[in-house]
Amino acid sequence: MTRIITALDTTDTNQIYDLVQALRRYTLFKVGLESYIFHGPEICKYVPIQDTFLDLKFYDIPNTVAGAMRSALSKHKPAIVNVSAWIGLEGMQRAVEIAREHSPTTKVIAVTVLTSMDTAALSQLLNPNSMSENINSQRFALHLARLACQAGCDGVVCSGHEVPSIKGEFGPKFLTVVPGIRPAGSATNDQKRVMTPREAKEAGADYLVIGRPITEATNPVAAAKAILAEMGE
Ligand code: C5P
Repeated sequence: MTRIITALDTTDTNQIYDLVQALRRYTLFKVGLESYIFHGPEICKYVPIQDTFLDLKFYDIPNTVAGAMRSALSKHKPAIVNVSAWIGLEGMQRAVEIAREHSPTTKVIAVTVLTSMDTAALSQLLNPNSMSENINSQRFALHLARLACQAGCDGVVCSGHEVPSIKGEFGPKFLTVVPGIRPAGSATNDQKRVMTPREAKEAGADYLVIGRPITEATNPVAAAKAILAEMGE
């Protein structure tokens, strides 16, 4: 089964409340940097935390990531938390260790390559002097997923394009949480490695993270239901 996670990317608590009330029968939720930085942990009062992905993408040295994870999980026990895989093996291991200690039910996942980055953007970041043919966003995401798996993470955030190879290498239980989802014909915005909900489901994604196509729709419930229908869920 592939589930939708609605990204609540707004500082407006009334909008968050309304979206949660309207959508909780259909989707899980994601609280990310925009709302969490504005409101702090208080924002967790507005969402069903056991059905929420706390998307703070920790990126720092292992000791600071461990402290951030401890702080995040001391008050709330979200369904999913994450770190950036770019912190490396040791940081991810520390994050997993602390999460298991403070909230054994919370899944820890690692962000591989942002879905807003294509191979050209990744090459620019990693090797500004030459657009090396050896750099490929899909291969690099798989490489980071390998580290995340080795660190004991429960899964990764990746694009739908990487799901088959990640599931193939790490098995069906290794979670794939997939943003960059765009129903056919809708605006891609800043996302680059996109897929339709149906394609991502067929690729084997466990969770689809969907923000603007639902939250900016005139009728978010109708948008979510149409996506679920397209996926056959
Ligand atoms: O509005 P849209 O559907 O593009 O929102 C996607 C959400 O997924 C955003 O909240 C963004 O922060 C998040 N995300 C992402 N790519 C990643 C990790 C998280 O787009 N690799």
